[in-house]
Amino acid sequence: MNDLHFNKIALVGIGLIGSSLAHAVKARGLATEVAISTRSPATLTRAEELGLGTSYHAEAKDAVRDADLVIVSVPVGASGAVAAEIAPALKPGAILSDVGSTKSSVIAQMAPHVPAGVHFIPGHPVAGTEHSGPDAGFATLFEGRWTILTPLPDSDPAAVASLRAFWESIGSMVEEMDAAHHDKVLAIVSHLPHIIAYNIVGTAEDLETVTESEVIKYSASGFRDFTRLAASDPVMWRDVCLHNKDAILEMLARFSEDLAYLQRAIRWGEGDKLFELFTRTRAIRRSIVQAGQDTAAPNFGRDVAEHKQD
Ligand code: NAP
Repeated sequence: MNDLHFNKIALVGIGLIGSSLAHAVKARGLATEVAISTRSPATLTRAEELGLGTSYHAEAKDAVRDADLVIVSVPVGASGAVAAEIAPALKPGAILSDVGSTKSSVIAQMAPHVPAGVHFIPGHPVAGTEHSGPDAGFATLFEGRWTILTPLPDSDPAAVASLRAFWESIGSMVEEMDAAHHDKVLAIVSHLPHIIAYNIVGTAEDLETVTESEVIKYSASGFRDFTRLAASDPVMWRDVCLHNKDAILEMLARFSEDLAYLQRAIRWGEGDKLFELFTRTRAIRRSIVQAGQDTAAPNFGRDVAEHKQD
Protein backbone atom coordinates (compact mmCIF):
# COMPACT_ATOMS: atom_id res chain seq x y z
CA MET A 1 0.00 0.00 0.00
CA ASN A 2 3.00 2.30 -0.46
CA ASP A 3 1.28 4.53 -3.02
CA LEU A 4 -1.65 5.30 -0.71
CA HIS A 5 -1.75 9.04 -0.13
CA PHE A 6 -4.44 11.53 0.84
CA ASN A 7 -4.21 15.26 0.16
CA LYS A 8 -6.01 16.01 3.39
CA ILE A 9 -7.06 13.91 6.34
CA ALA A 10 -9.22 15.48 9.08
CA LEU A 11 -9.19 14.04 12.58
CA VAL A 12 -12.16 15.11 14.69
CA GLY A 13 -11.40 14.18 18.30
CA ILE A 14 -7.77 13.84 19.29
CA GLY A 15 -7.70 11.61 22.37
CA LEU A 16 -6.00 8.22 22.57
CA ILE A 17 -7.35 6.97 19.24
CA GLY A 18 -7.29 10.27 17.31
CA SER A 19 -3.72 11.05 18.40
CA SER A 20 -2.57 7.50 17.62
CA LEU A 21 -4.02 7.95 14.12
CA ALA A 22 -2.19 11.29 13.83
CA HIS A 23 1.13 9.70 14.83
CA ALA A 24 0.60 6.77 12.47
CA VAL A 25 -0.36 9.01 9.52
CA LYS A 26 2.68 11.18 10.13
CA ALA A 27 5.04 8.24 10.57
CA ARG A 28 3.94 6.73 7.23
CA GLY A 29 3.58 10.05 5.38
CA LEU A 30 0.01 9.21 4.40
CA ALA A 31 -1.26 12.77 3.98
CA THR A 32 -0.05 16.17 2.85
CA GLU A 33 -2.34 17.92 5.32
CA VAL A 34 -3.65 16.65 8.65
CA ALA A 35 -6.34 18.95 10.08
CA ILE A 36 -7.18 18.45 13.72
CA SER A 37 -10.22 19.51 15.66
CA THR A 38 -11.34 18.85 19.21
CA ARG A 39 -13.97 20.22 21.55
CA SER A 40 -11.82 21.88 24.22
CA PRO A 41 -9.21 24.60 23.73
CA ALA A 42 -6.91 22.82 26.20
CA THR A 43 -6.84 19.57 24.17
CA LEU A 44 -6.43 21.51 20.91
CA THR A 45 -3.46 23.42 22.34
CA ARG A 46 -1.91 20.18 23.56
CA ALA A 47 -2.36 18.57 20.13
CA GLU A 48 -0.55 21.53 18.60
CA GLU A 49 2.25 21.34 21.17
CA LEU A 50 2.66 17.67 20.30
CA GLY A 51 2.76 18.56 16.59
CA LEU A 52 0.06 16.03 15.76
CA GLY A 53 -1.20 17.76 12.62
CA THR A 54 -0.60 20.53 10.12
CA SER A 55 -3.58 22.71 11.15
CA TYR A 56 -5.71 23.02 14.28
CA HIS A 57 -9.37 24.07 14.41
CA ALA A 58 -11.73 24.93 17.24
CA GLU A 59 -14.66 24.16 14.94
CA ALA A 60 -14.87 20.65 13.50
CA LYS A 61 -16.53 21.95 10.34
CA ASP A 62 -13.44 24.02 9.57
CA ALA A 63 -11.18 20.97 9.90
CA VAL A 64 -13.19 18.75 7.54
CA ARG A 65 -13.49 21.24 4.69
CA ASP A 66 -11.79 19.80 1.54
CA ALA A 67 -10.69 16.66 3.41
CA ASP A 68 -10.59 13.40 1.44
CA LEU A 69 -10.77 11.30 4.60
CA VAL A 70 -12.48 12.35 7.83
CA ILE A 71 -12.19 10.18 10.93
CA VAL A 72 -14.34 10.99 13.95
CA SER A 73 -12.81 9.75 17.23
CA VAL A 74 -15.14 10.93 19.99
CA PRO A 75 -17.19 9.04 22.61
CA VAL A 76 -19.99 7.19 20.79
CA GLY A 77 -22.70 9.26 22.47
CA ALA A 78 -21.30 12.39 20.83
CA SER A 79 -21.12 11.05 17.28
CA GLY A 80 -24.55 12.30 16.18
CA ALA A 81 -23.87 15.88 17.26
CA VAL A 82 -20.46 15.83 15.56
CA ALA A 83 -21.97 14.45 12.33
CA ALA A 84 -24.62 17.20 12.35
CA GLU A 85 -21.92 19.84 12.76
CA ILE A 86 -19.56 18.64 10.04
CA ALA A 87 -22.09 17.41 7.46
CA PRO A 88 -22.56 20.71 5.55
CA ALA A 89 -18.79 21.13 5.19
CA LEU A 90 -17.97 17.64 3.89
CA LYS A 91 -16.55 17.47 0.36
CA PRO A 92 -18.45 15.36 -2.20
CA GLY A 93 -16.51 12.13 -2.67
CA ALA A 94 -14.96 12.32 0.81
CA ILE A 95 -14.79 9.23 3.00
CA LEU A 96 -16.30 9.73 6.45
CA SER A 97 -15.47 7.15 9.09
CA ASP A 98 -15.33 6.77 12.85
CA VAL A 99 -13.63 4.58 15.43
CA GLY A 100 -16.47 4.11 17.91
CA SER A 101 -16.66 0.94 19.99
CA THR A 102 -20.35 0.41 19.12
CA LYS A 103 -21.57 0.43 15.55
CA SER A 104 -25.38 0.20 15.22
CA SER A 105 -25.86 3.22 17.45
CA VAL A 106 -23.17 5.25 15.67
CA ILE A 107 -24.76 4.47 12.30
CA ALA A 108 -28.21 5.46 13.62
CA GLN A 109 -26.78 8.74 14.92
CA MET A 110 -24.50 9.71 12.03
CA ALA A 111 -26.04 8.31 8.82
CA PRO A 112 -29.06 10.67 8.74
CA HIS A 113 -26.70 13.66 8.55
CA VAL A 114 -24.39 12.37 5.81
CA PRO A 115 -24.90 14.31 2.56
CA ALA A 116 -25.34 12.49 -0.75
CA GLY A 117 -21.98 11.88 -2.42
CA VAL A 118 -20.08 11.42 0.85
CA HIS A 119 -19.01 7.83 1.59
CA PHE A 120 -19.89 6.98 5.17
CA ILE A 121 -18.06 3.80 6.24
CA PRO A 122 -18.09 3.17 10.00
CA GLY A 123 -15.09 1.48 11.59
CA HIS A 124 -13.70 0.27 14.90
CA PRO A 125 -10.03 -0.44 15.61
CA VAL A 126 -9.97 -3.21 18.21
CA ALA A 127 -6.94 -1.71 19.88
CA GLY A 128 -6.54 0.55 22.85
CA THR A 129 -5.17 1.12 26.29
CA GLU A 130 -6.63 2.39 29.57
CA HIS A 131 -5.13 5.85 28.93
CA SER A 132 -6.95 8.80 27.37
CA GLY A 133 -6.18 12.16 25.83
CA PRO A 134 -3.74 13.41 23.18
CA ASP A 135 -0.65 12.44 25.18
CA ALA A 136 -1.72 8.80 25.30
CA GLY A 137 -1.43 8.12 21.56
CA PHE A 138 1.40 6.30 19.80
CA ALA A 139 2.05 5.38 16.15
CA THR A 140 2.15 1.61 16.63
CA LEU A 141 -1.17 1.24 18.49
CA PHE A 142 -2.88 -0.41 15.54
CA GLU A 143 -0.04 -2.67 14.40
CA GLY A 144 -1.02 -6.32 14.37
CA ARG A 145 -4.50 -5.45 15.68
CA TRP A 146 -7.82 -5.87 13.90
CA THR A 147 -9.93 -3.04 12.59
CA ILE A 148 -13.54 -3.91 11.86
CA LEU A 149 -15.31 -1.99 9.10
CA THR A 150 -19.10 -2.11 9.02
CA PRO A 151 -20.00 -0.73 5.56
CA LEU A 152 -23.62 0.06 4.86
CA PRO A 153 -25.44 -1.99 2.22
CA ASP A 154 -25.03 0.81 -0.34
CA SER A 155 -21.41 1.69 0.51
CA ASP A 156 -19.23 2.23 -2.55
CA PRO A 157 -16.79 -0.72 -2.84
CA ALA A 158 -13.98 1.57 -4.05
CA ALA A 159 -14.35 3.80 -0.97
CA VAL A 160 -14.41 0.73 1.30
CA ALA A 161 -11.23 -0.49 -0.41
CA SER A 162 -9.55 2.90 0.19
CA LEU A 163 -10.45 2.88 3.87
CA ARG A 164 -9.26 -0.71 4.16
CA ALA A 165 -5.96 0.29 2.54
CA PHE A 166 -5.64 3.18 4.99
CA TRP A 167 -5.94 0.90 8.03
CA GLU A 168 -3.67 -1.72 6.49
CA SER A 169 -1.06 0.91 5.78
CA ILE A 170 -0.87 1.77 9.48
CA GLY A 171 -0.34 -1.88 10.36
CA SER A 172 -3.86 -3.04 11.08
CA MET A 173 -5.58 -6.17 9.82
CA VAL A 174 -9.05 -5.45 8.47
CA GLU A 175 -12.30 -7.41 8.60
CA GLU A 176 -15.75 -6.40 7.35
CA MET A 177 -19.01 -7.37 9.02
CA ASP A 178 -22.44 -5.93 9.61
CA ALA A 179 -22.97 -3.59 12.52
CA ALA A 180 -25.31 -5.85 14.50
CA HIS A 181 -22.82 -8.71 14.36
CA HIS A 182 -19.99 -6.37 15.39
CA ASP A 183 -22.00 -5.24 18.41
CA LYS A 184 -22.61 -8.83 19.55
CA VAL A 185 -19.00 -9.91 19.12
CA LEU A 186 -17.66 -6.84 20.90
CA ALA A 187 -20.19 -7.23 23.71
CA ILE A 188 -18.55 -10.52 24.68
CA VAL A 189 -14.88 -9.83 23.91
CA SER A 190 -14.67 -6.26 25.16
CA HIS A 191 -17.77 -4.76 26.74
CA LEU A 192 -18.57 -7.59 29.16
CA PRO A 193 -14.97 -7.92 30.43
CA HIS A 194 -14.90 -4.18 31.16
CA ILE A 195 -18.26 -4.34 32.96
CA ILE A 196 -17.09 -7.32 35.02
CA ALA A 197 -13.89 -5.45 35.89
CA TYR A 198 -15.75 -2.29 36.89
CA ASN A 199 -18.03 -4.46 39.01
CA ILE A 200 -15.35 -6.48 40.79
CA VAL A 201 -13.21 -3.44 41.54
CA GLY A 202 -16.31 -1.63 42.82
CA THR A 203 -17.19 -4.62 45.04
CA ALA A 204 -13.68 -4.71 46.52
CA GLU A 205 -13.93 -1.00 47.25
CA ASP A 206 -17.25 -1.52 49.04
CA LEU A 207 -16.15 -4.45 51.24
CA GLU A 208 -16.18 -3.51 54.88
CA THR A 209 -14.26 -6.50 56.21
CA VAL A 210 -11.25 -6.02 53.93
CA THR A 211 -9.31 -2.78 54.11
CA GLU A 212 -8.32 -0.74 51.07
CA SER A 213 -4.65 -1.15 51.98
CA GLU A 214 -5.07 -4.95 51.92
CA VAL A 215 -6.74 -4.81 48.50
CA ILE A 216 -3.80 -2.83 47.16
CA LYS A 217 -1.11 -4.80 49.02
CA TYR A 218 -2.25 -8.20 47.75
CA SER A 219 -3.52 -7.04 44.35
CA ALA A 220 -0.92 -9.06 42.40
CA SER A 221 -2.88 -12.21 43.25
CA GLY A 222 -5.39 -11.46 40.45
CA PHE A 223 -7.23 -8.28 41.34
CA ARG A 224 -4.60 -6.08 39.70
CA ASP A 225 -5.39 -7.44 36.24
CA PHE A 226 -9.00 -6.28 36.61
CA THR A 227 -7.92 -2.81 37.74
CA ARG A 228 -6.32 -2.10 34.36
CA LEU A 229 -9.67 -2.52 32.61
CA ALA A 230 -11.50 -0.73 35.41
CA ALA A 231 -9.20 2.28 34.97
CA SER A 232 -10.55 2.86 31.44
CA ASP A 233 -12.15 6.16 30.54
CA PRO A 234 -15.51 6.57 32.36
CA VAL A 235 -17.11 8.69 29.62
CA MET A 236 -16.19 6.23 26.88
CA TRP A 237 -17.49 3.26 28.87
CA ARG A 238 -20.65 4.96 30.05
CA ASP A 239 -21.41 5.62 26.38
CA VAL A 240 -20.53 2.07 25.30
CA CYS A 241 -22.94 0.65 27.91
CA LEU A 242 -25.74 3.01 26.89
CA HIS A 243 -25.17 2.52 23.15
CA ASN A 244 -24.77 -1.25 22.98
CA LYS A 245 -27.47 -1.90 25.53
CA ASP A 246 -29.26 -4.84 23.87
CA ALA A 247 -26.18 -6.90 23.04
CA ILE A 248 -24.64 -6.20 26.46
CA LEU A 249 -27.81 -7.18 28.32
CA GLU A 250 -28.00 -10.39 26.29
CA MET A 251 -24.39 -11.27 27.14
CA LEU A 252 -24.86 -10.31 30.81
CA ALA A 253 -27.88 -12.65 31.06
CA ARG A 254 -25.80 -15.46 29.60
CA PHE A 255 -22.91 -14.60 31.92
CA SER A 256 -25.17 -14.68 34.99
CA GLU A 257 -26.47 -18.13 34.04
CA ASP A 258 -22.95 -19.48 33.60
CA LEU A 259 -21.88 -17.89 36.87
CA ALA A 260 -24.75 -19.61 38.64
CA TYR A 261 -23.51 -22.93 37.20
CA LEU A 262 -20.04 -22.22 38.61
CA GLN A 263 -21.49 -21.14 41.95
CA ARG A 264 -23.45 -24.37 42.17
CA ALA A 265 -20.39 -26.48 41.30
CA ILE A 266 -18.41 -24.78 44.06
CA ARG A 267 -21.24 -25.15 46.59
CA TRP A 268 -21.66 -28.89 45.88
CA GLY A 269 -17.96 -29.64 45.61
CA GLU A 270 -18.24 -30.66 41.94
CA GLY A 271 -14.50 -30.52 41.24
CA ASP A 272 -14.79 -32.32 37.89
CA LYS A 273 -17.03 -29.56 36.51
CA LEU A 274 -14.63 -26.87 37.70
CA PHE A 275 -11.64 -28.75 36.30
CA GLU A 276 -13.32 -29.24 32.92
CA LEU A 277 -14.20 -25.54 32.60
CA PHE A 278 -10.79 -24.31 33.75
CA THR A 279 -9.09 -26.64 31.26
CA ARG A 280 -11.20 -25.33 28.37
CA THR A 281 -10.53 -21.69 29.29
CA ARG A 282 -6.79 -22.28 29.52
CA ALA A 283 -6.86 -23.44 25.88
CA ILE A 284 -8.47 -20.13 24.82
CA ARG A 285 -5.55 -18.24 26.35
CA ARG A 286 -3.15 -20.40 24.34
CA SER A 287 -5.07 -19.66 21.13
CA ILE A 288 -4.87 -15.90 21.79
CA VAL A 289 -1.10 -16.12 22.21
CA GLN A 290 -0.79 -18.29 19.09
CA ALA A 291 -2.81 -15.71 17.11
CA GLY A 292 -0.25 -13.05 18.11
CA GLN A 293 -2.80 -11.07 20.12
CA ASP A 294 -0.79 -11.30 23.38
CA THR A 295 2.58 -12.31 24.73
CA ALA A 296 3.34 -15.80 26.01
CA ALA A 297 5.65 -14.35 28.67
CA PRO A 298 4.55 -15.02 32.26
CA ASN A 299 2.49 -12.28 33.91
CA PHE A 300 1.81 -10.59 30.51
CA GLY A 301 5.54 -9.92 30.20
CA ARG A 302 5.58 -7.53 33.12
CA ASP A 303 8.89 -6.85 34.76
CA VAL A 304 8.24 -8.33 38.21
CA ALA A 305 10.70 -6.04 40.01
CA GLU A 306 9.18 -2.96 38.41
CA HIS A 307 5.75 -3.84 39.75
CA LYS A 308 6.84 -4.84 43.23
CA GLN A 309 4.47 -3.43 45.86
CA ASP A 310 5.95 -1.43 48.71
P1 NAP B 1 -10.32 10.05 24.63
O1 NAP B 1 -8.87 9.78 24.71
O2 NAP B 1 -11.07 10.29 25.89
O3 NAP B 1 -10.57 11.30 23.63
C1 NAP B 1 -11.88 11.71 23.35
C2 NAP B 1 -11.89 12.80 22.30
O4 NAP B 1 -13.27 13.10 22.05
C3 NAP B 1 -11.25 14.10 22.74
O5 NAP B 1 -10.74 14.80 21.61
C4 NAP B 1 -12.43 14.86 23.35
O6 NAP B 1 -12.31 16.26 23.25
C5 NAP B 1 -13.54 14.46 22.43
N1 NAP B 1 -14.85 14.53 23.08
C6 NAP B 1 -15.19 14.05 24.30
N2 NAP B 1 -16.49 14.27 24.54
C7 NAP B 1 -16.97 14.92 23.46
C8 NAP B 1 -18.26 15.45 23.12
N3 NAP B 1 -19.30 15.31 23.95
N4 NAP B 1 -18.39 16.07 21.93
C9 NAP B 1 -17.35 16.20 21.08
N5 NAP B 1 -16.11 15.71 21.35
C10 NAP B 1 -15.93 15.09 22.53
O7 NAP B 1 -11.10 8.86 23.89
P2 NAP B 1 -10.55 7.68 22.96
O8 NAP B 1 -10.05 6.57 23.83
O9 NAP B 1 -9.67 8.23 21.91
O10 NAP B 1 -11.92 7.16 22.34
C11 NAP B 1 -12.49 7.78 21.21
C12 NAP B 1 -13.42 6.79 20.53
O11 NAP B 1 -12.67 5.62 20.20
C13 NAP B 1 -14.61 6.33 21.37
O12 NAP B 1 -15.77 6.27 20.58
C14 NAP B 1 -14.24 4.92 21.79
O13 NAP B 1 -15.38 4.11 21.92
C15 NAP B 1 -13.36 4.47 20.62
N6 NAP B 1 -12.35 3.47 20.95
C16 NAP B 1 -11.62 3.59 22.09
C17 NAP B 1 -10.66 2.61 22.39
C18 NAP B 1 -9.86 2.70 23.67
O14 NAP B 1 -9.27 1.70 24.11
N7 NAP B 1 -9.77 3.85 24.31
C19 NAP B 1 -10.42 1.55 21.51
C20 NAP B 1 -11.15 1.50 20.30
C21 NAP B 1 -12.11 2.47 20.03
P3 NAP B 1 -11.75 17.23 24.39
O15 NAP B 1 -10.58 16.52 25.06
O16 NAP B 1 -11.34 18.42 23.60
O17 NAP B 1 -12.88 17.47 25.34
